[in-house]
Amino acid sequence: MRLRVDYLKCVRPDQCRRCLQACGRVVLVMYPERREDQKVATGWRLLPLHEGYCNGCRLCVEACPKSAIELLG
Ligand code: SF4
Ligand code: SF4
Repeated sequence: MRLRVDYLKCVRPDQCRRCLQACGRVVLVMYPERREDQKVATGWRLLPLHEGYCNGCRLCVEACPKSAIELLG
């Protein structure tokens, strides 16, 4: 199952993490954003890195207070 994260809505995943806590399949990960020189982390971004493990249960969608996650099928 493919997922899309709206980064205009999910701005500070490190202060939320609800989708990460909801997903028992470790589909979503928090990934450090870095400056162009890759030396300094500037923030965090939520990535649906392991989409192949997603079973479409929608628990992350329902847990998100910003409606930032969309299941694409
Ligand atoms: S739909 Fe279910 S399995 Fe897929 S990322 Fe969300 S919580 Fe995890
Ligand atoms: S629950 Fe929503 S707002 Fe919170 S980290 Fe996940 S995608 Fe971002």
